[in-house]
Amino acid sequence: MQSPTALAALYRSHGRKVTPQRQLLFQLMHENDQHPTAEALFAEASAQMPGISLRTVYQTLNELAEMGELQFIDIGGGPTRFDPNLDDHHHVVCSDCGHIRDVQVSGAAALHPSGAEDFVINEVGVVFQGVCSSCEKSRAKAGKSPLNKTFTHVYQN
Ligand SMILES: [Zn+2]
Ligand SMILES: [Zn+2]
Repeated sequence: MQSPTALAALYRSHGRKVTPQRQLLFQLMHENDQHPTAEALFAEASAQMPGISLRTVYQTLNELAEMGELQFIDIGGGPTRFDPNLDDHHHVVCSDCGHIRDVQVSGAAALHPSGAEDFVINEVGVVFQGVCSSCEKSRAKAGKSPLNKTFTHVYQN
């Protein structure tokens, strides 16, 4: 995703208004590696600009996605998360707190699913699920045994 200044220029060139609300959202999403949901971004934006509406947040995120400035990520049916990182990358997600981090996976683009021969595959996304280090620590504190379950989920769209 481009810088807030470049996005403002892009908006204007599309005949769209650059409101202070949108500018705040540009700033909050720029280089944001948290993969926030619209609600999380709304909470963050509201703290800085009380009165901003959830509708404005959704609308701006959709516009940015339409303009190719960010992507939607859908991890295992949870709420849609937004990602300004447009580079080829994959994700690891914590099944306890939902934290998502960018990861590199070598060879993912070369994966060939059997059973999808009649599909034209446009994109391959790999999602690793596990428990992050801070959740693992609190599990240990609570005397819970570590989860031994790590599985990989591959989606195509
Ligand atoms: Zn966690
Ligand atoms: Zn990402």
